[in-house]
Amino acid sequence: MNIIIHRGTHEIGGCVTEYEHNGYRLFVDYGDELPGGPKTGDLQVEGLTHGDISKSALLITHYHGDHIGSITKLPQDLPIYMGKVGCEIHKVLSNHLKTVNPAHKVMFERLQHVHTFREGEKFKIGPFDIMPVTVDHSAFDAYAFKIVVNGVSSVYHTGDFRLHGFRSGKTPDMLQKYVGEVDYVVCEGTNVTRPDAASEKESELQSDFETLFKENKGCVVYLSSTNIDRLFSLYHAAYNAHRPFYVDEYQKTVMDTVVKSGSIWTKSGLFQYKKHEPKSLIYDKYDKNSFFVSDSFKDALDKYGYVLIARPNPRFDNLIEQIPGEKKKVLSMWNGYVKEGSDAFNENLAKSLDKDFDYMHTSGHVDMADLRMLFSLLKPKGIIPIHTEEPEAFAKEFGNEWPVILLNDGDSFHSL
Ligand SMILES: [Zn+2]
Ligand SMILES: [Zn+2]
Repeated sequence: MNIIIHRGTHEIGGCVTEYEHNGYRLFVDYGDELPGGPKTGDLQVEGLTHGDISKSALLITHYHGDHIGSITKLPQDLPIYMGKVGCEIHKVLSNHLKTVNPAHKVMFERLQHVHTFREGEKFKIGPFDIMPVTVDHSAFDAYAFKIVVNGVSSVYHTGDFRLHGFRSGKTPDMLQKYVGEVDYVVCEGTNVTRPDAASEKESELQSDFETLFKENKGCVVYLSSTNIDRLFSLYHAAYNAHRPFYVDEYQKTVMDTVVKSGSIWTKSGLFQYKKHEPKSLIYDKYDKNSFFVSDSFKDALDKYGYVLIARPNPRFDNLIEQIPGEKKKVLSMWNGYVKEGSDAFNENLAKSLDKDFDYMHTSGHVDMADLRMLFSLLKPKGIIPIHTEEPEAFAKEFGNEWPVILLNDGDSFHSL
């Protein structure tokens, strides 16, 4: 089997990996490059973007834009495979955004033709046996893949993942059951130069939020609308603090999609509603840039307090302005988006947050100590880092314990 990293050996965004055997090509992920990251432009890959695609297929690890965002540029008849629940969530997102950006309409249509798989259900494409292994990440229904060719050569493709989330405790058991030992690991290395990014567990963050909600009557939290674990964590934190939890209709649909998904994770109470479901904000019939704000709604906020899940747009900005009393604003996503001068700077988010806000976040990506634990279970002959800006730092971190294979974009590595 040949392993070719078409993109992602030296950047976090836009990873594209190919596993090739006897002319069969299995690709993993085809996303956008990150704003502010390096730009290699549109890729030209034989068997993926053009040429003979009759022996090709594409697997998507999860719905983040840097993994799925560019699939709309691929030939219509290329078979694409994705987790069932992740696909449903991405449909809700692209359906919501399709009126503001036509690219999301194209994505929504493409998603109708995606083949879906479920966790732990092995499937076969050409000579490749694929085992989708559900992993904990800031996207729900995210996967790693164990890929085996002819029952001989095996690779574990990690995708984006972490071991400090709510769902991470099951990882060692799942690896033992579905993966075992492998020859190679193609591994994400996002946090290799961000040593503090994952210092807090998701469960510790939830307790911090609960305390914050108890101590502050009104809280407005900004987070990614598809960071499902954080969203449900906030819902339960608000519940325990006896604060009503408000979201808009779109966000409620995302949450409902998870609750009804039948994913194995929804056996956990974390992904279920308690007695009171999140409250949906009502859009104003006459002004699409506003929510309907009645006096009784304002009175209720004043009386019971609230946790409002917001996004940086005029509709939420208008609403927040009308809410009386003190409000605590919280940023619960990567703070690179609001650092002025940063390449990823998001002007709308910075404006909505203004100057006075708390930062409460933990990374969706694994830290180096946990990666070491993963490798000690998988016992690979070699590790290929991707999804990292610093592959050399990755080699320095692990090179003494496991062979780290450093590739450049487009290099082909032959694994036996
Ligand atoms: Zn991701
Ligand atoms: Zn990613």
